[in-house]
Amino acid sequence: MTSGDWNTTSPGRILIVDDAPENIQILHQTLKDEHEVFFATSGAQALQLANQLEPDLILLDVIMPGMNGYQVCKELKQASLTKEIPVIFITALNEEHDETAAFAVGGVDYIAKPIRPAVVKARVKTHLMLKRQREFLSRLSLVDGLTGVCNRRHFDERMRLEWRRAHRNNSTLAIIMADVDHFKRFNDTYGHQAGDDCLKTVAESLQAALQRPADFLARYGGEEFVCILPETTPQGAQVIAERMCSLIAEKNLPHSTSPTASHVTVSVGVACCLPDSCPGSPEELLMLADECLYRAKREGRNRVITIQTPA
Ligand code: GH3
Ligand code: MG
Ligand code: MG
Repeated sequence: MTSGDWNTTSPGRILIVDDAPENIQILHQTLKDEHEVFFATSGAQALQLANQLEPDLILLDVIMPGMNGYQVCKELKQASLTKEIPVIFITALNEEHDETAAFAVGGVDYIAKPIRPAVVKARVKTHLMLKRQREFLSRLSLVDGLTGVCNRRHFDERMRLEWRRAHRNNSTLAIIMADVDHFKRFNDTYGHQAGDDCLKTVAESLQAALQRPADFLARYGGEEFVCILPETTPQGAQVIAERMCSLIAEKNLPHSTSPTASHVTVSVGVACCLPDSCPGSPEELLMLADECLYRAKREGRNRVITIQTPA
């Protein structure tokens, strides 16, 4: 996961919703040179396209046959896929209570007809920029600044979610905890900057060992990383954990003061939540993985210890 840059030159995808073709025509003319523009001529079509195209912004007419704009906006704001898309109402209604209604249903702005292209352009530009800034900040708050993998806060959130999902579906859930061996000596030998670079490489290798889109890696703190592997057995997770050790060994980062090996190594603990034997909470599952990790340390480091589960 990378945080990217909010100040991109991406044109922005705009969905225009209006039942009158002449209005669509004017808005298209106004926006087509600087943006990617799509159209819907009814509320139902707007909802369908909003889900399908995930536009960056929606310009929404209020009075339409069938579903009106307020109803469309309410529905958009209730669905997780579309709730963050800013909606600007464009309408001939211009009483104060019409404007208030637009904000009450979750609109970010209100433009009165007749359409004045310069005003539409300016407002669209502002709201696209605000959306990019929001997305940038929300990504930033979930990413570890040094390694670019997810941070502890993101992990805690994801862990709760996957825990609930595993219980709902009666499926297995594996946790891998990995800690760099003798990392204090690494810093003492090569300096803190080299230590930081080492952590980046370790994070890359751990990420490379994961294969499924649902697998999730985070920096747990310091030189410790954690993975959530949904629908994975202890055996499956152990294979991944061993691949992590091999990929880090392949990087062959020199560690001359490590009593364990001449290169950087990690110790890994694997614990699992199985439908018929599951700890009582996410915290307990993490504690089990941590206990395995510390057994791996005690038994010589540079190894994987997987929790023993009832046969
Ligand atoms: P063990 O094999 O038992 O895990 O020993 P260790 O030296 O790796 O463990 P210890 O907990 O004693 O030391 C961890 C070190 O990791 C100490 C700390 O300065 C270093 N560290 C933690 N976060 C960072 C970081 O962001 N950058 C760098 N360069 N070092 C870090
Ligand atoms: Mg360590
Ligand atoms: Mg540690």
